[in-house]
Amino acid sequence: LIELRGVNKHFGQLHVLQDIHLTVGRGEVVVVIGPSGSGKSTLCRIINRLETVESGDILIDGQPLPAEGRDLARLRADVGMVFQSFNLFAHKTVLANVSLGPVKARGRKREEANRRSRELLERVGLADQAHKYPAQLSGGQQQRVAIARALAMDPKVMLFDEPTSALDPEMINEVLEVMQQLAAEGMTMVVVTHEMGFARSAANRVVFMADGRIIEDRTPDDFFTHPETDRAKDFLSKIL
Ligand code: ATP
Ligand code: MG
Repeated sequence: LIELRGVNKHFGQLHVLQDIHLTVGRGEVVVVIGPSGSGKSTLCRIINRLETVESGDILIDGQPLPAEGRDLARLRADVGMVFQSFNLFAHKTVLANVSLGPVKARGRKREEANRRSRELLERVGLADQAHKYPAQLSGGQQQRVAIARALAMDPKVMLFDEPTSALDPEMINEVLEVMQQLAAEGMTMVVVTHEMGFARSAANRVVFMADGRIIEDRTPDDFFTHPETDRAKDFLSKIL
């Protein structure tokens, strides 16, 4: 469903992504881990062209991602994204946050979008919060709204960039549970996270990055029990 072939990216002198090859199949859950600055967020951002690349191809569902224009907007809408900071619209209700995208970008009728948004809020456990404003919710609740908002666009794939790292510990699980459920329902997901419990239980593959390269790409079981590289061993010894 997602294919990166020989992707390279520099920020000035810094070679942040070096010859990245990555394939994510339909329904696969790929967890990306690695030290700070290794290029994990940049990898997410190039998958929906929030960043340009210098060389290499990015294919979504077999179609090359164009650099700009209407086709880019359409393909980008197939990729849902959830960030560390929730980025909700503060002056809109929870329901309006979720239904805005489908109305504006997909041309849905407001009532239909609202009905579907209520279903999605129910799915993330927030059916009773639809009328509130983001500031009236906890961080975990806001992040679940952000997930519902991304799902409202009917994405083919969901990207998560450290979705729980800004949350208080007691709120992490409620967000991970929603993600686990999505994974179990067959959503294709790329998840940057330090939550190794999630990686072990939900991931089909773990991709370990260091210095802009993919160093290991293996099943969680393999990776956690027999990391091959010293970089991965070193990283695991620090976080486990
Ligand atoms: P973290 O775990 O801290 O989130 P990361 O693996 O997500 O790190 P990236 O955010 O992808 O790392 O950054 C990779 C490198 O690129 C870092 O050295 C970072 O400083 C640099 N970088 C990222 N974005 C930019 C930018 N817009 N301009 C210049 N350098 C950047
Ligand atoms: Mg990052």
